[in-house]
Amino acid sequence: MPIVAVDDTDSRTDGMCTTYVATRLAERLEAAGGTVVRRLLVRLNPAVKHKTRGNAAVALHVTDVSARAAFDLACETVHRFSVVADERTSPGVVVADLAVHSSDGPPIPDAVASFARRALRERLTVEEATTLADAHGFLHAAVGDVRSHPGRGRIGAVAAVGAPAAFDAWTVEHISYREFDRCGTRRDVDADSVFAAAEMGYPTVWDTVDRGTGEVVCVPNAPGPILHGIRGDDAAACRSVAAAIRSEPVDRTATFHTNQGTDAHLEAGRIGDLRDGAGFKIDVVVAGAPETKRGGHVHLTLGPPGSGIPDRDGLNETRQGGPTSDPADGLRCVAFKPTGRFRDHVRALRPGDRVTVCGECELRPVAGSTAPRETLKLEKFAVRELMRTVPSTPTCPGCDRRMSSAGRDQGYRCRDCDTAAPGRVDRPIDRSLELGWYEVPPAARRHIAKPLIRGGFDAPTHPER
Ligand code: ATP
Repeated sequence: MPIVAVDDTDSRTDGMCTTYVATRLAERLEAAGGTVVRRLLVRLNPAVKHKTRGNAAVALHVTDVSARAAFDLACETVHRFSVVADERTSPGVVVADLAVHSSDGPPIPDAVASFARRALRERLTVEEATTLADAHGFLHAAVGDVRSHPGRGRIGAVAAVGAPAAFDAWTVEHISYREFDRCGTRRDVDADSVFAAAEMGYPTVWDTVDRGTGEVVCVPNAPGPILHGIRGDDAAACRSVAAAIRSEPVDRTATFHTNQGTDAHLEAGRIGDLRDGAGFKIDVVVAGAPETKRGGHVHLTLGPPGSGIPDRDGLNETRQGGPTSDPADGLRCVAFKPTGRFRDHVRALRPGDRVTVCGECELRPVAGSTAPRETLKLEKFAVRELMRTVPSTPTCPGCDRRMSSAGRDQGYRCRDCDTAAPGRVDRPIDRSLELGWYEVPPAARRHIAKPLIRGGFDAPTHPER
């Protein structure tokens, strides 16, 4: 069964979209007698700098057509629809004759599955992709002027070939496309009908709208042929939601299976051991009070499990020489302004809270230190244990006033009543957070991030909708 994969067809300014090119290609393959059994929309490393938007590649699983005929049609179609005039667009086509849904051909090679997994977490090269494609007899090509376009899309395309063997969690996106000559104009979609349709489909269909901000999340802002994309766990449910939306004419539609909404980019990590541009899930302890900085971004400093318990009444301080004294030891987390109300949950954390944080790591140089600072762009976190008390200066049982220090290691004393206390006491505090998972709202969600409403988390969830 030929797997026909394409990537890097669009431009940031002129629009287009790899799913659209693949949809036109699927029509051509079917017109040539082929049957498109499945369409995959595969999200890859969101940290890749040369991506246009969401770093997606597409693969079509086709029967009743030869690999060579599929390859020729794919090259022609990609040439016809890609924005090859944009020097940053670098289209690539890869066709592999492998078995996916039947025993019709060899299985997806382990090395190709492993390439797909790495493409989500590392930065790979065209050379590695083409070497792998050659080693397994895949047909591949750079499309357009190969002097300026190295066919970088072959990285994503080889990864899309390996995706079925690399990822075990799949969701659906049903995409409706605009009439082509309307591209670039304002999309005419009735927001009320989107909210009503979203309500009908929820929770099988998710991230259609953001009820907190009132945004219609399923309608893109960028130029290009997509009118709306409906995401969910079930194809029929996504199609019903799409059908209930009132809008300008829908030109064509396609349903993709996708690794979106699965957290496939996250791996377990440890402070001090994180890689730039990879996604991690890390058990940590809050070491410093959250700070809202210029631009509205909320910063948080964290230490490894078993560290970072506040040392003073002031909540803002951690032990001298503790996990944050050297930038290389502490982890910085940032909840960016666009994550909106999620920042309130981050701000509600206190030193000593035990949490699991998830997001993409960026290594930033630190002046005067050889080790870079690890910064995690927060996507979600789980509260594992909350500090319910803070150590405070005792109050006098006689006059109810705060005692004063009686000197180093000599406890506290009330100057008026002469009562004494051996040390600080635990004062209960109110916490607005509960145990369990908190996430960014739908409007701020990365394609690959798993919405809490999908379930399967290891603690209670507080889904945003
Ligand atoms: P589109 O809307 O077309 O899907 P996009 O946001 O997916 O746009 P592309 O134009 O496809 O962005 O650009 C992404 C480029 O990055 C492609 O050339 C792809 O082959 C390449 N790529 C994907 N994953 C990796 C990776 N892990 N390392 C290096 N390059 C990658």
